[in-house]
Amino acid sequence: MGAAKARILVVEDEPALVELLTYNLERAGYETAVARDGEEAELMIAENKPDLVVLDWMLPYVSGMEICRRLRARAATRQLPIIILTARGEETDRVRGLEAGADDYVVKPFSPRELVARVSAILRRAQPGSDDEILSFDDVQMDMAAHRVTRDGRPVALGPTEFRLLHHFLSNPGRVFSREQLLNSVWGYDAAIEPRTVDVHIRRLRKALNTDGQADLIRTVRAAGYALDVE
Ligand code: CA
Repeated sequence: MGAAKARILVVEDEPALVELLTYNLERAGYETAVARDGEEAELMIAENKPDLVVLDWMLPYVSGMEICRRLRARAATRQLPIIILTARGEETDRVRGLEAGADDYVVKPFSPRELVARVSAILRRAQPGSDDEILSFDDVQMDMAAHRVTRDGRPVALGPTEFRLLHHFLSNPGRVFSREQLLNSVWGYDAAIEPRTVDVHIRRLRKALNTDGQADLIRTVRAAGYALDVE
């Protein structure tokens, strides 16, 4: 990103909320763009990809959840950081948001300060490593410079959170991490996120890594957490 300002696309149809979001994001030093519905958002992203998308769940025509799924399904936007805004506080709804591919969610009403903190945390995490480090474990290889993961030589498509999660495991193979430790190291900010969030991302990481009946490299340690390990 360098000296250039990170650009945030706000996808929201309520004018008051758009104003609150753009005002606070710009005050925090970000450039903003606004889309009023999902279709407009997709066009804007195709024209000029933002650094992060703040996506409201409740949108006219197509839900934020569906837009999120579509963005994750395309190679060009698979890595695009997405924060979902939701009015629903139910845990199952939040988990659904993460399962649709969001990196984080913020429940309305939210404090602008909290939202800005999450945006900066995700952007910080999304910056690729500057070194040309290559990490490997068993048949998994992670090339930091190319931001690429392969298993047995074949490319593995990971979302930004799964990428960081795997990087953390590859940096500490065999070590067991509790959900709280993973939240601290991988998510990296102080927020009240449910430990269940970790489970959702572990599931996505496993799904991406273990195709064609390959051995599961992530060990679930009952009542303790997770580790990168082989049987
Ligand atoms: Ca809305």
